[in-house]
Amino acid sequence: MNAPVSMPHVMPTYGRLPIALSHGEGAYVWDTEGRRYLDGLSGIAVNTLGHKHPKLVAALQDQVTKMIHSCNYYQVPLQEELARLLVERSGLTNAFFCNSGLEANEAALKIARKFGHDKGIHRAEVIVCERAFHGRSIATLSATGNTKIHAGFEPLVEGFVRVPFNDIAALEAAVASHPNVTAIFMETIQGEGGITPARVDYLQAARRICDDKGILLMLDEVQCGMGRTGKWFAHQWAGIQPDVMPLAKGLGSGVPIGAVVCGPKAANVLQAGNHGTTFGGNPLAMRAGVTTIEAMEEEQLLAQADHVGKHLMAALRRDLGSEKGLKEIRGQGLMIGIELDRPCGVILTRAMEAGLLLSVTADTVVRLLPPLIFTTEQADDLVAILAPIVHQFLSESVA
Ligand SMILES: *Cc1c(COP(=O)(O)O)cnc(C)c1O
Repeated sequence: MNAPVSMPHVMPTYGRLPIALSHGEGAYVWDTEGRRYLDGLSGIAVNTLGHKHPKLVAALQDQVTKMIHSCNYYQVPLQEELARLLVERSGLTNAFFCNSGLEANEAALKIARKFGHDKGIHRAEVIVCERAFHGRSIATLSATGNTKIHAGFEPLVEGFVRVPFNDIAALEAAVASHPNVTAIFMETIQGEGGITPARVDYLQAARRICDDKGILLMLDEVQCGMGRTGKWFAHQWAGIQPDVMPLAKGLGSGVPIGAVVCGPKAANVLQAGNHGTTFGGNPLAMRAGVTTIEAMEEEQLLAQADHVGKHLMAALRRDLGSEKGLKEIRGQGLMIGIELDRPCGVILTRAMEAGLLLSVTADTVVRLLPPLIFTTEQADDLVAILAPIVHQFLSESVA
């Protein structure tokens, strides 16, 4: 490997690997030294269409020559177009556009508070889950369930009630004992927390509790939404709808974008003057979102994510299933976690050295988030690189 890339003028917020990526095509990327990698991460679930997708490239080039930014003083027809595409696919009614996942979640939390104020609840509380990840702003890090992310940023924002994930009784008890609760807020599949799906019966129970109490179900689909699981939105596997759904990562195939999509209970809570954004909903990002959805449909990428995801999961189980240190392989579609019985951060480096990009989250979970254009052949290549690395790692380390 080459020497660590030095970035002396960039704040040291990340421990960076010693490569720099320069370009990509499809499911492959190349570094500045000309080495090729199979992309099993998509820039953390962002590059939905892979790299250099011809339709996206052409649309963005065209949009750049017309208009990049206009601001929200004016009508933005591409916003209406993307909002329509999102509400049609989710069954919800209205969208607000911003620039990132945490911004989408901030908007959701503002909706939960204003929803309370509108009903005379002036100290609204929101139920959140252990091991949740919702972002790095002061409010969204307070909603996050990882004390490492809180550390150094206290005082946290008040008004969060934390419950264990996938525990229906705990959810019922929390709602019953906190009369000021206005929303239940959770990821449909916990991403940073270790690729842990909310169980179908848990999601259905959360929906029922919210209906009974007249409170909002807010499902953070920033990572698991936009086709990654083989349906447009991960909660659709449970046959329910949220009232509020933050989206971001994969929505623009790499162009920064966030959105909150709301159903009728939540869509009119924020009125003129209550919320805003300078960049949010700009024509360039909207064009990226519209083109991503169009390309996903033309190329039937939902079906592909479902099919290739099942193939990948089966191949991983076949080649790793008998490893003693393997705890579980889980996920849905092209969002897969391989949980080991010990911290395994070194697997990320070894996979990179072997030409495969992936991540390790929650210390012990190898996380795969390939682009939705991934093929079964590429899935086989991924397993052929990864399985021996995991095997070697487990045979030399101790739990
Ligand atoms: C990544 C992520 C966020 C934060 O998104 P940013 O764009 O990094 O602010 C929020 N929620 C979930 C579930 C995420 O995976």
